[in-house]
Amino acid sequence: MTATAFASKVKTIIRDVPDFPKKGIVFKDITPLLSDHAVFAEMIKHFAGHFRKAGVTKVLGIEARGFLLAAPIAMELGAGLVPVRKKGKLPYKSVSASYALEYGMDTLEMHADAVQPGEKVLIVDDVLATGGTAGAVCSMVEQLGGKVAGIAMLIELEFLNGREKLAGRDIYSLIKY
Ligand code: AMP
Repeated sequence: MTATAFASKVKTIIRDVPDFPKKGIVFKDITPLLSDHAVFAEMIKHFAGHFRKAGVTKVLGIEARGFLLAAPIAMELGAGLVPVRKKGKLPYKSVSASYALEYGMDTLEMHADAVQPGEKVLIVDDVLATGGTAGAVCSMVEQLGGKVAGIAMLIELEFLNGREKLAGRDIYSLIKY
């Protein structure tokens, strides 16, 4: 199936949940997709196919839904998996980056030895919205001397202009709204 045909199919499976977690937000619920083995497997092949020649040695999954996509992509690419977590969850020496939320700030962390200088890294999450989260992860990778080979997102909310914050990055999103 072509990427376009597959994307149309996936769009019918993702569930819109209005007013979650708060009024005015339409939450993109990917759980129906995860529970469909054939569709989930094909989705992982699409992402891995796009980045197969990028020389990726580490795949970073962003807490928490990013973990679910990053792990099978890492296996498919023959790369290591690195969890990016909310502040205070990781046990070992970590680096951090903060980013602005609608109200206040949030901080993400990853282990300081998870990416070696020069390593090529793929960043994975379920939704690209304003781009603040992915931007913070890019800055952590670069603090450690890693190279951001690409950003893979299942869903891109284009009206929030996340790409502007991530100018110059190779962003591959399967579905756009
Ligand atoms: P942002 O930093 O604005 O790009 O937001 C991205 C993060 O927020 C991702 O980790 C997403 O999982 C989550 N997110 C933002 N908007 C939505 C949405 N409409 N539905 C589900 N998750 C969302």
